[in-house]
Amino acid sequence: MTDIKSMNLAELTDYLTENGFEKFRSKQVLSWLKQDAGDFDDMTNLPQKLRSFLKENAYLACADIVRVQRSKLDDTVKYLFRLYDGEYVEGVLMHYHHGKTICISSQVGCKMGCTFCATGKSGFSRSLTASEMIAQIRSAEIDCGERISNVVLMGMGEPFDNYDHVIRFLKLVSSEDSLHIGMRHITISTCGIVPRIRDFADLGLQCGLSVSLHAPTDEARSRTMPVNRRYPIAQLMEAVRYYIKKTNRRVTFEYALIDAENDSDETARQLAGLLKGLLCHVNLIPVNNVTGAGYRKSSIKRQQAFVNILSAYGINATVRRTLGSDIDASCGQLKRNFMKGDE
Ligand code: SAH
Ligand code: SF4
Repeated sequence: MTDIKSMNLAELTDYLTENGFEKFRSKQVLSWLKQDAGDFDDMTNLPQKLRSFLKENAYLACADIVRVQRSKLDDTVKYLFRLYDGEYVEGVLMHYHHGKTICISSQVGCKMGCTFCATGKSGFSRSLTASEMIAQIRSAEIDCGERISNVVLMGMGEPFDNYDHVIRFLKLVSSEDSLHIGMRHITISTCGIVPRIRDFADLGLQCGLSVSLHAPTDEARSRTMPVNRRYPIAQLMEAVRYYIKKTNRRVTFEYALIDAENDSDETARQLAGLLKGLLCHVNLIPVNNVTGAGYRKSSIKRQQAFVNILSAYGINATVRRTLGSDIDASCGQLKRNFMKGDE
């Protein structure tokens, strides 16, 4: 079946004309897609023959909201979305002074197995298509009744383990054929798939890049992030340098502060040494609770000491405010095994 919602206008036009329909039909179809048509039969200005063809050969990807959890601590909302084949992903809508930001998922689960992450613990089932990433944004917009201005690919999944669909998503969502959200308002987060960081750099897109670092040495990083055994820190840093050189953009490093794991003064100094001279920012996230992970947040005192050491070495660092903690909507808390009693 053809995923027409992942196509831009030119592709849709080719698809329809190759199958014997008039060129102008693609604009009509696209206009229905933009109006969130849920069924080909809703596309009332299309001839019956075209509707039948689409019903037989294409499908309308979706991310239907099946559960909404609203935080009582802030304006954060967590959605559970159902995809066309009955798989589920989660997304989180956050309200900032500059507008609404949505954190969307790029895969059902994740293969990377980071030990501090609920998604990593929930296994992997499949990657999402571009249309399914866009559908999460649209469903949330309809639910909240406002335009969403910023998107982060920091939900479930490793975006660079689903590279082609993610790049298609970026190009489509930022175009007039779709939601027209500027690349500068989109950020991708990766655990460090080195060859894809280089490919991404070569594309020269203006979208933001975050790298989940979480430890400054191979020994420590491999302990919590299995991906480090495949792509060790030296290779990762080389790829990040290449990205900065190619795009001239600042990179954000994500660093979850875990009590007695990666939060010592010595570790802070090692991190400062690693990042010295790089155009970057360090986002420190007191590690969020994940059942069975056995990690605790660093104390406020350690968080402060860590920031102070980085600052003393001239590294730009901030501790990130945690949103939606009462609804398990914070970084690393999204998971795919919802059916087991919690729906
Ligand atoms: N797979 C991508 C994007 C999704 S995870 C990646 O790993 O970058 C989004 C962010 O949440 C990443 O920076 C990830 O390292 C972080 N994260 C995962 N589990 C966390 C936890 N328990 N506490 C804080 N941050 C966590
Ligand atoms: Fe996957 Fe990112 Fe979680 Fe690691 S932190 S398991 S890469 S989603």
